[in-house]
Amino acid sequence: MTSVLRDTRSLLAGTMRPVRACALAWVSTLVLGAGGLHPADVFASAAAHAEASGVAHTPRVAAVAPVDPAPGLADASDTTIQASLPATNRMSLSGSKPSAEPLQFAWLRDGRAQYWRIDSRGTVGDQLSTQAAQPLPATVETPLGSVWKLFVYGYLVDRGIATPDYNCTGGDPEEVYCCMTGGHIDRERALVQSCGLFFEPARLHIDAADWRKYWSAAGAPAWLRDLRALQPAQRVAVADLLAALQAMPARPREAASSTLISVLTSGRGEGTVALYGSLLRAKTWTMPDPARPGASIGGAAGWLADGSPVWLGGPGGSARVLAAAAPRIAPLLAQTIVPDDAACVVVDFFTRYPVREVLPVQGSAAVPDGPLTGAYRVGFANGNWLRIESRGELLLQSDPGVAPRIIGRFGMNDYIARVVEREGDARDEEAAKALAVAARSYVVQHGTRERGCFRIDDSSSTQRVLAHPASAGARRAADLTDALVLTGVPVQYHHDKAAAGQMSWLDAKAAAQRGLTFDAILARTWPQATLTSFESPLAGDCQPVAGAREWLQRNASLWARRLNDEPGYETPDLPAVCAVTDGRPYADAQRNRVYIHRLRSEDDRIALAHEYIHLAFQHHPRGLDEGFVERTARALIRSEATVQ
Ligand SMILES: [Zn+2]
Repeated sequence: MTSVLRDTRSLLAGTMRPVRACALAWVSTLVLGAGGLHPADVFASAAAHAEASGVAHTPRVAAVAPVDPAPGLADASDTTIQASLPATNRMSLSGSKPSAEPLQFAWLRDGRAQYWRIDSRGTVGDQLSTQAAQPLPATVETPLGSVWKLFVYGYLVDRGIATPDYNCTGGDPEEVYCCMTGGHIDRERALVQSCGLFFEPARLHIDAADWRKYWSAAGAPAWLRDLRALQPAQRVAVADLLAALQAMPARPREAASSTLISVLTSGRGEGTVALYGSLLRAKTWTMPDPARPGASIGGAAGWLADGSPVWLGGPGGSARVLAAAAPRIAPLLAQTIVPDDAACVVVDFFTRYPVREVLPVQGSAAVPDGPLTGAYRVGFANGNWLRIESRGELLLQSDPGVAPRIIGRFGMNDYIARVVEREGDARDEEAAKALAVAARSYVVQHGTRERGCFRIDDSSSTQRVLAHPASAGARRAADLTDALVLTGVPVQYHHDKAAAGQMSWLDAKAAAQRGLTFDAILARTWPQATLTSFESPLAGDCQPVAGAREWLQRNASLWARRLNDEPGYETPDLPAVCAVTDGRPYADAQRNRVYIHRLRSEDDRIALAHEYIHLAFQHHPRGLDEGFVERTARALIRSEATVQ
């Protein structure tokens, strides 16, 4: 029922009987009424879970709660809290006080700034279309919010300024957006997590005169040239903000875009990647709502995969706005034509089957060496023939004394589309997208680097590749997951055999047919992996709890025997067990993870069993019954059904 089940254990748990009251399952008022939580707990956890929040997007899992962040924390950083409510009611249930702020979206494409506005009475069914676009009025304004960090990032990248990590010393409450006390954060992660302390111009010794010179040369709007005006509360016309994003030179824009892909997988937009794909690369922002004391407005600003500047704003924190906007603007974004020039893959074709000759489709005239254009017949030493087709991307190379070779040179997404169609198919879009990510991860992990390209064999021992152009569906699966890979794990896949670290293609298709999105399909095999851009890989968004997954694996089968007859029980894929960075243990079904503090005491074991039981009953109402979940966890831990 829910994808993110956050425990709201009593803070006094150490001295009292622990009460695990997970699952901010419904709208806040319902949670407070029925769940018996103290409002202060919810509020405290709003701030505490600002970073680790997850969002869901399929109809049977969680959406975003209308609980607003602590006002003191909203400034310059993004804060939000998630709970779930029926997806169809996301907007109509959006809080007790109606917001004057509509959901607004704007982009700058082909020199035209276009604008969409949906008032809060709109429903999820209202998808934006290009026909409904209006010219962006000059009067539409936005606070700059955390988007200032994006401009500092771009300047640092382009000027080649060294940026020391920010060290969290515990001295500043804003460090909650950066790192644990004693830890540190680098530039890329600081951008994704919206760590303002990292980008403070004074810390980085940014020279105001050079800043002005840089942005003046770029043709940026006047407010961006003044370093002192780079404040979250600065109000700017959205048209000017789009112009400023347009003004960022290509190199820093591409670096920022790559890193911002992670906003949708492990940052404030976590969970929305299934809807946006990797097409939206935007920095989040959240600010106090001037019309509603204590409430927030938020959104994101950045670019689409084709470099078009975009801006999004609406009621609530950035996570809430990104989730609420996703079903409306995703169809619009899906029309983006994804450029395929960022990386290339060189393929040595047919490495296990020596080629005897290459002939035209008709006749037997010798085909000269060099780029192939048109259709050909390839004759193999084993007597087989194969038809191939090329628009210049395949090259024939014949050297005396050796078999002729066919070498392909592809853009990354062209290559991925060819693998998707050769190793799988594009009939189930989410499965095809999962395979696209697996195939891209594979070539990044196993390809050799050669003159700026990845080089890999076309072989059943690596991954096979079409020797003719891929279908539009396969290309779409590659484009919608542009640049996405899994990091932190070895990636293998097989037609029908699932194993640890190996996805079964047929299982992936079955999961897609059950309604799982590509990120959830991947999380079934690789729950501990980080989904990120290979151009800007971030890793380690799951810090494994030592020994916990192994302990869980030993016990899961024993527990399955005990629980098999319980209505609603399904043995889940073995989840990753990650350390909670802040706040209480919780389970995230979409990412197939449970988050706990440690695994030392009996109480820790009960906590892990408790979160696991949430996953095991995730498709049944009992998965939301905290009393049932906690009783079951205790019974398992205190019985012979558990190997301590
Ligand atoms: Zn719970």
